[in-house]
Amino acid sequence: MSRPGRGALRMVVGSVAALLAVALIVALRMPEVAAWQWYLRAGKPGMADFEPRLDGALRWADDYFVVEELGDGAWAIGEPRYGQCNFSYLIAGSERALLFDTGPGVRDIGPIVGSLTKLPVLALPSHLHFDHVGNLARFADVALPDLPALRAQARGGRIRLTRYQHLGFIEGGIPVEFAVTRWLAPGSSIELGGRTLRLLSMPGHTADSVVLEDQGANRLFAGDFIYPSQIYAFLPGADLDAYAASAQRLAARLGPATVVYGAHGCDQAPTVAVPRLARTDVQDLARALTVAAASSGPIGAGLYPRRLPVNGRMILYAKYPWMVR
Ligand SMILES: [Zn+2]
Repeated sequence: MSRPGRGALRMVVGSVAALLAVALIVALRMPEVAAWQWYLRAGKPGMADFEPRLDGALRWADDYFVVEELGDGAWAIGEPRYGQCNFSYLIAGSERALLFDTGPGVRDIGPIVGSLTKLPVLALPSHLHFDHVGNLARFADVALPDLPALRAQARGGRIRLTRYQHLGFIEGGIPVEFAVTRWLAPGSSIELGGRTLRLLSMPGHTADSVVLEDQGANRLFAGDFIYPSQIYAFLPGADLDAYAASAQRLAARLGPATVVYGAHGCDQAPTVAVPRLARTDVQDLARALTVAAASSGPIGAGLYPRRLPVNGRMILYAKYPWMVR
Protein backbone atom coordinates (compact mmCIF):
# COMPACT_ATOMS: atom_id res chain seq x y z
CA MET A 1 0.00 0.00 0.00
CA SER A 2 1.29 3.47 -0.83
CA ARG A 3 2.01 6.02 1.86
CA PRO A 4 -1.09 8.20 1.06
CA GLY A 5 -3.24 4.99 1.14
CA ARG A 6 -1.93 4.04 4.58
CA GLY A 7 -2.56 7.58 5.80
CA ALA A 8 -6.20 7.48 4.63
CA LEU A 9 -6.70 4.08 6.27
CA ARG A 10 -5.22 5.37 9.52
CA MET A 11 -7.61 8.34 9.36
CA VAL A 12 -10.66 6.10 8.82
CA VAL A 13 -9.63 3.71 11.61
CA GLY A 14 -8.91 6.67 13.88
CA SER A 15 -12.29 8.28 13.14
CA VAL A 16 -14.17 5.02 13.75
CA ALA A 17 -12.28 4.49 17.01
CA ALA A 18 -13.06 8.05 18.11
CA LEU A 19 -16.76 7.59 17.28
CA LEU A 20 -16.86 4.30 19.20
CA ALA A 21 -15.16 5.92 22.16
CA VAL A 22 -17.70 8.76 22.18
CA ALA A 23 -20.59 6.26 21.90
CA LEU A 24 -19.13 4.24 24.77
CA ILE A 25 -18.72 7.31 26.97
CA VAL A 26 -22.33 8.38 26.25
CA ALA A 27 -23.63 4.85 26.93
CA LEU A 28 -21.69 4.59 30.18
CA ARG A 29 -22.74 8.04 31.32
CA MET A 30 -26.43 7.48 30.52
CA PRO A 31 -27.02 3.73 30.18
CA GLU A 32 -30.68 4.07 31.14
CA VAL A 33 -31.19 6.53 28.29
CA ALA A 34 -29.40 4.33 25.78
CA ALA A 35 -31.37 1.25 26.91
CA TRP A 36 -34.64 3.11 26.82
CA GLN A 37 -34.00 4.35 23.29
CA TRP A 38 -33.23 0.78 22.28
CA TYR A 39 -36.56 -0.33 23.83
CA LEU A 40 -38.41 2.41 21.97
CA ARG A 41 -37.27 1.16 18.57
CA ALA A 42 -40.20 -1.26 18.83
CA GLY A 43 -42.64 1.59 18.35
CA LYS A 44 -43.05 5.16 19.42
CA PRO A 45 -46.23 6.49 20.98
CA GLY A 46 -48.31 8.78 18.85
CA MET A 47 -51.96 8.75 17.90
CA ALA A 48 -53.96 5.65 18.83
CA ASP A 49 -54.74 3.18 16.04
CA PHE A 50 -58.12 2.07 17.42
CA GLU A 51 -61.58 3.60 17.58
CA PRO A 52 -62.23 4.22 21.30
CA ARG A 53 -65.30 2.65 22.93
CA LEU A 54 -66.24 4.63 26.00
CA ASP A 55 -66.99 2.80 29.23
CA GLY A 56 -69.02 3.91 32.25
CA ALA A 57 -70.03 7.55 32.35
CA LEU A 58 -67.35 8.73 29.91
CA ARG A 59 -68.72 10.95 27.12
CA TRP A 60 -67.16 12.62 24.09
CA ALA A 61 -66.74 16.35 24.72
CA ASP A 62 -65.68 16.93 21.09
CA ASP A 63 -63.97 14.79 18.46
CA TYR A 64 -60.84 14.35 20.62
CA PHE A 65 -61.48 14.82 24.37
CA VAL A 66 -63.65 12.61 26.59
CA VAL A 67 -65.05 13.75 29.94
CA GLU A 68 -66.50 11.95 32.93
CA GLU A 69 -68.11 13.83 35.80
CA LEU A 70 -66.83 12.19 38.97
CA GLY A 71 -69.26 14.00 41.28
CA ASP A 72 -68.31 16.41 44.08
CA GLY A 73 -67.13 19.01 41.56
CA ALA A 74 -64.47 16.92 39.81
CA TRP A 75 -64.05 15.73 36.24
CA ALA A 76 -61.75 13.33 34.43
CA ILE A 77 -60.65 14.63 31.02
CA GLY A 78 -59.25 11.92 28.76
CA GLU A 79 -57.43 11.84 25.42
CA PRO A 80 -58.05 8.30 24.07
CA ARG A 81 -57.09 9.24 20.50
CA TYR A 82 -53.59 9.96 21.76
CA GLY A 83 -51.47 6.79 21.99
CA GLN A 84 -50.74 7.14 25.71
CA CYS A 85 -54.38 7.83 26.51
CA ASN A 86 -53.70 10.53 29.08
CA PHE A 87 -56.21 11.50 31.74
CA SER A 88 -56.09 14.90 33.45
CA TYR A 89 -58.34 15.88 36.36
CA LEU A 90 -60.24 19.09 37.04
CA ILE A 91 -61.16 19.63 40.70
CA ALA A 92 -63.34 22.62 41.59
CA GLY A 93 -64.07 24.33 44.89
CA SER A 94 -66.34 27.34 45.35
CA GLU A 95 -63.60 29.88 44.55
CA ARG A 96 -61.19 28.25 42.15
CA ALA A 97 -60.39 25.05 40.35
CA LEU A 98 -57.25 23.02 39.92
CA LEU A 99 -56.26 21.14 36.78
CA PHE A 100 -53.96 18.25 37.66
CA ASP A 101 -51.94 17.56 34.49
CA THR A 102 -52.64 19.13 31.12
CA GLY A 103 -52.07 16.34 28.60
CA PRO A 104 -49.50 16.15 25.79
CA GLY A 105 -50.64 19.37 24.09
CA VAL A 106 -51.75 17.61 20.90
CA ARG A 107 -54.90 19.69 21.43
CA ASP A 108 -55.59 22.72 23.63
CA ILE A 109 -57.30 21.42 26.77
CA GLY A 110 -58.35 25.00 27.72
CA PRO A 111 -61.76 25.08 25.94
CA ILE A 112 -62.82 21.80 27.57
CA VAL A 113 -61.78 23.08 31.00
CA GLY A 114 -63.61 26.35 30.29
CA SER A 115 -66.78 24.45 29.38
CA LEU A 116 -66.70 22.63 32.75
CA THR A 117 -65.95 25.55 35.09
CA LYS A 118 -65.98 29.34 34.96
CA LEU A 119 -63.74 29.58 38.04
CA PRO A 120 -60.10 30.68 37.80
CA VAL A 121 -57.97 27.60 37.12
CA LEU A 122 -54.60 26.73 38.63
CA ALA A 123 -52.68 24.16 36.55
CA LEU A 124 -50.38 21.73 38.34
CA PRO A 125 -48.48 18.89 36.62
CA SER A 126 -48.08 15.54 38.41
CA HIS A 127 -44.55 15.53 36.98
CA LEU A 128 -42.73 17.02 34.02
CA HIS A 129 -42.90 14.34 31.31
CA PHE A 130 -44.03 15.69 27.94
CA ASP A 131 -47.43 13.97 27.97
CA HIS A 132 -48.43 15.86 31.14
CA VAL A 133 -47.06 19.36 30.52
CA GLY A 134 -48.06 19.95 26.89
CA ASN A 135 -50.64 22.64 27.67
CA LEU A 136 -49.00 24.29 30.70
CA ALA A 137 -47.83 27.31 28.68
CA ARG A 138 -51.47 28.01 27.82
CA PHE A 139 -52.38 28.64 31.49
CA ALA A 140 -51.81 31.94 33.29
CA ASP A 141 -51.60 30.35 36.73
CA VAL A 142 -49.19 27.41 37.00
CA ALA A 143 -47.90 25.77 40.17
CA LEU A 144 -44.92 23.48 40.71
CA PRO A 145 -43.86 21.65 43.85
CA ASP A 146 -41.31 23.67 45.78
CA LEU A 147 -38.38 21.28 45.38
CA PRO A 148 -34.79 22.62 45.48
CA ALA A 149 -33.87 21.19 42.06
CA LEU A 150 -36.86 22.81 40.35
CA ARG A 151 -36.33 26.13 42.13
CA ALA A 152 -32.71 26.16 40.98
CA GLN A 153 -33.86 25.56 37.42
CA ALA A 154 -36.27 28.53 37.32
CA ARG A 155 -35.09 31.81 35.78
CA GLY A 156 -37.12 34.99 36.10
CA GLY A 157 -40.28 33.12 37.01
CA ARG A 158 -39.98 30.76 34.06
CA ILE A 159 -38.75 27.22 33.75
CA ARG A 160 -37.41 25.45 30.70
CA LEU A 161 -37.46 21.69 31.01
CA THR A 162 -34.38 19.68 30.13
CA ARG A 163 -34.33 17.01 27.45
CA TYR A 164 -34.42 14.12 29.92
CA GLN A 165 -36.92 15.77 32.23
CA HIS A 166 -39.35 16.28 29.36
CA LEU A 167 -38.54 13.20 27.19
CA GLY A 168 -40.64 14.64 24.35
CA PHE A 169 -37.90 13.87 21.85
CA ILE A 170 -39.36 10.37 21.49
CA GLU A 171 -42.28 12.00 19.67
CA GLY A 172 -40.17 14.61 17.93
CA GLY A 173 -41.06 17.31 20.45
CA ILE A 174 -38.76 19.83 22.10
CA PRO A 175 -38.75 20.63 25.85
CA VAL A 176 -41.41 23.16 26.80
CA GLU A 177 -40.96 26.39 28.71
CA PHE A 178 -43.62 27.97 30.89
CA ALA A 179 -44.14 30.58 33.61
CA VAL A 180 -44.42 29.38 37.21
CA THR A 181 -46.70 31.55 39.32
CA ARG A 182 -46.75 29.46 42.52
CA TRP A 183 -44.34 27.19 44.34
CA LEU A 184 -46.22 24.79 46.61
CA ALA A 185 -44.41 23.20 49.52
CA PRO A 186 -44.70 19.40 49.64
CA GLY A 187 -47.25 18.50 52.30
CA SER A 188 -49.04 21.83 51.96
CA SER A 189 -52.76 22.34 51.52
CA ILE A 190 -54.33 23.86 48.44
CA GLU A 191 -57.54 25.71 49.27
CA LEU A 192 -60.11 25.81 46.48
CA GLY A 193 -63.02 27.13 48.60
CA GLY A 194 -64.92 24.52 50.60
CA ARG A 195 -62.46 21.92 49.33
CA THR A 196 -58.91 21.31 50.45
CA LEU A 197 -56.34 19.29 48.53
CA ARG A 198 -53.04 18.12 49.94
CA LEU A 199 -49.94 18.02 47.79
CA LEU A 200 -47.69 15.04 48.52
CA SER A 201 -44.20 14.62 47.10
CA MET A 202 -43.87 11.02 45.84
CA PRO A 203 -40.50 10.56 44.12
CA GLY A 204 -39.96 7.37 42.15
CA HIS A 205 -41.37 7.57 38.63
CA THR A 206 -39.47 10.88 38.57
CA ALA A 207 -37.78 12.80 41.38
CA ASP A 208 -40.38 15.57 41.19
CA SER A 209 -43.54 13.42 41.04
CA VAL A 210 -46.43 14.58 43.22
CA VAL A 211 -49.88 13.23 44.02
CA LEU A 212 -52.96 15.12 45.22
CA GLU A 213 -55.08 13.95 48.10
CA ASP A 214 -58.73 15.00 48.41
CA GLN A 215 -59.58 13.49 51.78
CA GLY A 216 -63.03 15.08 51.85
CA ALA A 217 -64.02 13.15 48.74
CA ASN A 218 -61.91 10.05 49.50
CA ARG A 219 -59.86 10.50 46.35
CA LEU A 220 -56.24 10.38 45.38
CA PHE A 221 -55.05 11.80 42.07
CA ALA A 222 -51.87 9.90 41.35
CA GLY A 223 -50.46 11.01 37.97
CA ASP A 224 -47.99 8.39 36.73
CA PHE A 225 -47.25 7.12 40.22
CA ILE A 226 -49.84 4.40 39.74
CA TYR A 227 -52.33 3.56 36.97
CA PRO A 228 -53.54 0.30 35.40
CA SER A 229 -51.04 -1.42 33.05
CA GLN A 230 -47.27 -0.83 32.96
CA ILE A 231 -45.74 1.08 35.85
CA TYR A 232 -42.66 2.82 34.47
CA ALA A 233 -39.77 2.67 36.92
CA PHE A 234 -37.17 2.49 34.18
CA LEU A 235 -37.24 5.87 32.47
CA PRO A 236 -34.31 8.27 32.87
CA GLY A 237 -34.54 9.74 36.37
CA ALA A 238 -36.66 6.93 37.85
CA ASP A 239 -35.48 5.60 41.21
CA LEU A 240 -36.63 2.21 42.58
CA ASP A 241 -35.56 2.89 46.18
CA ALA A 242 -37.37 6.22 46.26
CA TYR A 243 -40.39 4.68 44.48
CA ALA A 244 -40.62 1.86 47.05
CA ALA A 245 -40.35 4.28 49.98
CA SER A 246 -42.99 6.57 48.45
CA ALA A 247 -45.39 3.68 47.77
CA GLN A 248 -45.04 2.41 51.34
CA ARG A 249 -45.71 5.91 52.67
CA LEU A 250 -48.73 6.33 50.40
CA ALA A 251 -50.18 2.88 51.18
CA ALA A 252 -49.93 3.65 54.91
CA ARG A 253 -51.85 6.90 54.72
CA LEU A 254 -54.72 6.00 52.36
CA GLY A 255 -58.10 5.07 53.78
CA PRO A 256 -59.62 1.74 52.70
CA ALA A 257 -62.32 3.44 50.60
CA THR A 258 -59.99 5.82 48.75
CA VAL A 259 -60.44 5.80 44.99
CA VAL A 260 -57.11 6.27 43.19
CA TYR A 261 -57.20 8.06 39.82
CA GLY A 262 -54.25 7.47 37.49
CA ALA A 263 -53.05 9.34 34.42
CA HIS A 264 -53.33 6.71 31.67
CA GLY A 265 -56.49 4.81 30.81
CA CYS A 266 -56.41 2.56 27.74
CA ASP A 267 -55.25 -0.70 29.32
CA GLN A 268 -58.45 -2.34 28.02
CA ALA A 269 -58.27 -0.72 24.54
CA PRO A 270 -60.33 -0.20 22.50
CA THR A 271 -62.50 0.13 25.61
CA VAL A 272 -61.58 3.34 27.40
CA ALA A 273 -62.38 3.95 31.04
CA VAL A 274 -61.31 6.43 33.70
CA PRO A 275 -58.24 4.74 35.25
CA ARG A 276 -59.45 3.95 38.76
CA LEU A 277 -57.58 1.87 41.28
CA ALA A 278 -57.97 1.09 44.98
CA ARG A 279 -55.81 1.21 48.09
CA THR A 280 -55.11 -2.51 47.66
CA ASP A 281 -53.45 -1.70 44.31
CA VAL A 282 -51.17 0.84 46.03
CA GLN A 283 -50.35 -1.83 48.64
CA ASP A 284 -49.57 -4.37 45.90
CA LEU A 285 -47.36 -1.83 44.12
CA ALA A 286 -45.57 -1.03 47.39
CA ARG A 287 -44.87 -4.75 47.91
CA ALA A 288 -43.54 -5.25 44.37
CA LEU A 289 -41.38 -2.13 44.55
CA THR A 290 -40.01 -3.17 47.93
CA VAL A 291 -39.01 -6.58 46.54
CA ALA A 292 -37.49 -4.93 43.47
CA ALA A 293 -35.57 -2.31 45.47
CA ALA A 294 -34.18 -4.94 47.85
CA SER A 295 -32.93 -7.17 45.04
CA SER A 296 -29.20 -7.13 44.42
CA GLY A 297 -29.60 -8.49 40.88
CA PRO A 298 -32.02 -7.75 38.04
CA ILE A 299 -35.66 -8.22 39.04
CA GLY A 300 -38.42 -9.90 37.02
CA ALA A 301 -38.06 -11.23 33.49
CA GLY A 302 -37.37 -10.04 29.95
CA LEU A 303 -34.42 -8.41 28.25
CA TYR A 304 -35.30 -4.73 28.74
CA PRO A 305 -37.02 -3.29 30.60
CA ARG A 306 -37.24 -6.06 33.22
CA ARG A 307 -40.88 -6.89 33.96
CA LEU A 308 -42.22 -7.83 37.38
CA PRO A 309 -45.96 -8.61 37.79
CA VAL A 310 -47.60 -6.48 40.50
CA ASN A 311 -51.14 -7.87 40.35
CA GLY A 312 -53.73 -8.61 37.67
CA ARG A 313 -53.82 -4.96 36.60
CA MET A 314 -50.20 -3.84 36.77
CA ILE A 315 -46.70 -4.84 35.71
CA LEU A 316 -43.63 -3.07 37.06
CA TYR A 317 -41.09 -2.08 34.38
CA ALA A 318 -37.63 -1.64 35.87
CA LYS A 319 -34.08 -1.04 34.69
CA TYR A 320 -30.99 -3.03 35.64
CA PRO A 321 -29.44 -2.03 38.97
CA TRP A 322 -26.15 -1.13 37.29
CA MET A 323 -27.89 1.53 35.22
CA VAL A 324 -28.77 3.56 38.28
CA ARG A 325 -26.33 6.29 39.27
ZN1 LIG B 1 -44.41 9.99 33.25
